[in-house]
Amino acid sequence: MDLFEYQGKQYFSRFGIPVSPGGVADTVDEAVATAEKVGYPVVVKAQVQVGGRGKAGGIKLADNADEVRTHAGNILGMDIRGHVVKRLWIEHASDIAKEYYASFTLDRAAKLHLGMVSAKGGVDIEQVAEEDPGAIARLHIDPTQGLDEAAARGLVEEANLDPEAADGAVDILVKLYRCFVEGDADLVEINPLILTPDGRVHALDAKVTLDDNAAFRHPEWDEFRGLEVLDPREALARQKGLQYVGLDGFVGIIANGAGLAMSTCDVVEQVGGKPANFLDIGGGASAEVMANALEVINTDEKVKAIFINIFGGITRGEEVANGIVAALGRVEIRSPIVIRLDGTNADEGRKILAEHESDRLMSLPTMIDAARRATELAGGKTR
Ligand code: GDP
Ligand code: MN
Repeated sequence: MDLFEYQGKQYFSRFGIPVSPGGVADTVDEAVATAEKVGYPVVVKAQVQVGGRGKAGGIKLADNADEVRTHAGNILGMDIRGHVVKRLWIEHASDIAKEYYASFTLDRAAKLHLGMVSAKGGVDIEQVAEEDPGAIARLHIDPTQGLDEAAARGLVEEANLDPEAADGAVDILVKLYRCFVEGDADLVEINPLILTPDGRVHALDAKVTLDDNAAFRHPEWDEFRGLEVLDPREALARQKGLQYVGLDGFVGIIANGAGLAMSTCDVVEQVGGKPANFLDIGGGASAEVMANALEVINTDEKVKAIFINIFGGITRGEEVANGIVAALGRVEIRSPIVIRLDGTNADEGRKILAEHESDRLMSLPTMIDAARRATELAGGKTR
């Protein structure tokens, strides 16, 4: 789950990372009221989950109520790279002497945490990585060892932050690492991390991605939900308790088991189709689960055919077939369905499906043939 900047800053605060005082506003009047409370000058900041808000005109300084009114009016409703601004964060403006960069993330290839610090903050870090990779100091951290102050200091020194920023930056790095680990985040990023003319270091922006797999031990994350920007298909799937990831293609996919669901996506790609989603219905394939899965896929207007790929293990073929048939009695499906059923009692299952065979529902014995047929039915070119 990605947090908005203001939520990320709330999260940072819990771990003692200094941020500017501020408040949210959903209307121009609220923006002015918040600015009065926070104290001028303020920064009016678009809350959208996409970077480069500054460049897009979504971040403006304001010295008085009139300026807040103007900027808030312009920014609310603004489209920033496909994200419409519905909420503002108004914070007390900081004087900036220097802009740095700091982040922690997981380096999956190295199986270690990765800390990155740069004296070239404020700008797009990907651009720095490309044009001046030496300007980013990197440190791999063994999660069983953690990050101590000495290691954080080493990182700050390697990044060549100004000496007067060192102590503040080290303190923030240690806290940011705790936020990353204890806060169960996949990414914590501060860009810019600033040094003020009077020598204080603090976070001017916040990017936090929480690890959804850790949600069970963070009931407090519920407050972040509600506003979350979810694909409507993913929202419905979550409601129904399905493991669903929306993709851009036109072949809807249902499979039992995450591995099979991934392979199904691959095979559809391989024959020239484009998967519209990843959907794992888990071990069983009851009529209810199947009906829920079909319902979610049915809301996706790009889907032109559905490929159900089931390998029966403990779940027997005839149960799966009966589940599919019963599900089709419950939901009216827009697209033709191609089924590949294999594994335990596949023959029995296929017999049941054969009784319901039509040009809208067909069963093929192999994964590749079924993927081809589904792609063709969806109007795709197969290879
Ligand atoms: P982003 O463009 O989406 O990354 O948004 P940021 O929150 O990082 O803000 C972009 C830029 O706006 C920063 O790099 C700063 O240069 C500027 N900015 C943000 N807040 C302040 C502030 O309090 N004072 C000043 N002077 N500039 C700010
Ligand atoms: Mn930023």
